[in-house]
Amino acid sequence: MSLPKTTKAILVQKTGGPEVLALGEVATPTPSADKVLVKVEWAGVNYVDTYKRAGVYTLPLPLVLGEECSGTIVALPTSESVLNSEQYALRNFHVGDRVACTVSGSFAQYAAASWEKCWKLPVNVETKIGALCVLQGLTALTMIRETYTVKKGDYVLVHAAAGGVGLLLCQACSYLGAHVIGTVSTLAKAQLARENGAEHVIISKEQNVIQEVMKLTDGKGCHVILDGIGKDTWEDDFEMIRRKGTIVTYGNASGVVPPFAPLKLAGKNIKVARPTLGNYIVTAEESAEYFSWLFELIDKGVLKFHVHDEYPFTADGVRKSQTDITSRGTTGKLVIKVE
Ligand code: NDP
Repeated sequence: MSLPKTTKAILVQKTGGPEVLALGEVATPTPSADKVLVKVEWAGVNYVDTYKRAGVYTLPLPLVLGEECSGTIVALPTSESVLNSEQYALRNFHVGDRVACTVSGSFAQYAAASWEKCWKLPVNVETKIGALCVLQGLTALTMIRETYTVKKGDYVLVHAAAGGVGLLLCQACSYLGAHVIGTVSTLAKAQLARENGAEHVIISKEQNVIQEVMKLTDGKGCHVILDGIGKDTWEDDFEMIRRKGTIVTYGNASGVVPPFAPLKLAGKNIKVARPTLGNYIVTAEESAEYFSWLFELIDKGVLKFHVHDEYPFTADGVRKSQTDITSRGTTGKLVIKVE
């Protein structure tokens, strides 16, 4: 298949507010040893896009924004050792297959994804779902299996329970039999979190979150706290975690968590984890485990995707998606239709 020499992409040339985003042209990725080349149809919006744009994470510039997509394979890896490997054979990729992948630089017409981070979409799963489920779905699943193994009867506190990762955590943890307590900022978000598996929801702008959590857990606190808010909720987490519990701080929506002394953990013998998805799905076996579980839970109807809005593949469209996701006004997933 002949590919265009250049591809349209959303670029960050210098860090700053949403206004620094520009639609530009970059060289179309060429087929390479271990990459699957994808014609992008949908790209998921994630909080991490805003960190990269604003410079919270320092990266070489210019960069193409976006961390996940779904679309169609237009070229396969070229390395014989990849093509002959057992794990690659299990993926059974062909040109024309519909896939979902995590890949940096997905806000573009073409993206080159490591084959290990790419998964063929089951026939009954729409292409769009691929871009809704991958990054946030795999993040939720790796955290509740590996960072802390959620068990039946556990009290699980999910901050930002109506957000992209939050709704999926509510769905998956309630499926595993945990008591899910969600925090959200509005009544409308509380309703959505309840519909998605939260047994109790606390409205953080109206209620005393610590008091409510301690009431709901008989004064003991939660077994695990899943916190993507970061700075604003960090200190309170230490009040709401139970003895021997685990605080999982996995994001910085309100700002980065400050450094702390390990002795802080000794008060209740607690653990703190700061996981990233990228470091859980490094090998083909690891990614296969979580992609399989993700699509099994989608197939069973356990994981469902609530779309806040769809945005056009223009500088204004992507800027708006970034303003929206940081506004605290969104619920579930934001997605870009890539033309
Ligand atoms: P969300 O849809 O959850 O949006 C963020 C939510 O955080 C808001 O809707 C808001 O919910 C809450 N929030 C609380 N305080 C603030 C604040 N001061 N500013 C902005 N938001 C605030 O986003 P995502 O689902 O995309 O991501 C959730 C978190 O997960 C992010 O921190 C992200 O970085 C992290 N993440 C981490 C990954 C990893 O590998 N570690 C991978 C993927 C995501 P409310 O108003 O209801 O409180």
